[in-house]
Formats: sequence, structure tokens, C-alpha cells
Amino acid sequence: MNSVKNNPAYSNTDTSKVNMNDEEWKKILSSEVYQVARQKGTESPWSSPLEKIKDKGTYYCAVCGNGLFVSDTKFESGCGWPSFYQPVTKGSVIYEVDNTYGMKRTEVMCGRCKSHLGHVFDDGPPPTGLRYCINGVVLDFKKAQKAEQKYKDGAKSK
Ligand SMILES: [Zn+2]
Repeated sequence: MNSVKNNPAYSNTDTSKVNMNDEEWKKILSSEVYQVARQKGTESPWSSPLEKIKDKGTYYCAVCGNGLFVSDTKFESGCGWPSFYQPVTKGSVIYEVDNTYGMKRTEVMCGRCKSHLGHVFDDGPPPTGLRYCINGVVLDFKKAQKAEQKYKDGAKSK
């Protein structure tokens, strides 16, 4: 999955806000990513390979590289989209009331580039009771560093 080629905004460390218009994004992003991120589209349920994986790692915004969620807060919601109960930090994502399609929902957007990610519902598991229902196509998953992984595995089993 490489949606980041020739993307000047993409960084896993830069936290400065990204401000680009849709025309610019259209040139940079793949049509699948553009459709969800900039047009507030929704991928088909069960279509994302990220929905099932349980690997340790971090989920970044596929548009700008902002850290959004970590694997420890991912859970199986059965809704067909990658689900998390908590973002990495409070500022990782921003929220907006979404009343489209006759529903009252809360839209979740990337805190850095304002790309549409998905929605948050209040039927999630503890400790937050929240379910962040996120389109896999706008997530960029990076496995935890090997050393860190070893350390964690070692700490668990021995
Ligand atoms: Zn972003």
C-alpha cells in the first residue's frame, strides 16, 4: 500500500497542519483514497485487509502520515471496518456533526490534514465506550519496530 509517493504533505513526524485544496489532493492521492478522504466516501464493508489484522503497530493517516491509532486500541466490532476505541492522542483526530443520510452521526477527520476517516459511535468497549469506525483505505499501517516487538513479546511470555 503506497499512497504516499510524490506526496509533499506526507510525514510521520511533522505535526504542522496541512492545507491543500481538493484539486491538489486529486493529483497526489489514488482515486480510492481521494474518494474517501476528500469526498467523504465510504469503502465497502469487509473490503479492507486492515479490518482483520492484529499485528502490533501504528495506523497513520494515509493522506498526511499523521499518527491516528495504535493496534492496542483496535478491536473486532463486526461492523466490517477497522475499529478502534481510542485515538493515539486527543488531537490526532477532529470531530464534526454529520447529519447526512437522515442520520445523526459524528464524523471523524484527521487532526492534521482534515481528511475524512470515518465516524465515531458510542457503542464501543471499555474503557472509552467508543467505537471509531474507520475506512481502511485512508489508514497506513506500519508494524511496530522489530526490537520493540521482541521486547514486548519477551515481556509477555517470559
Ligand atoms: Zn491526515
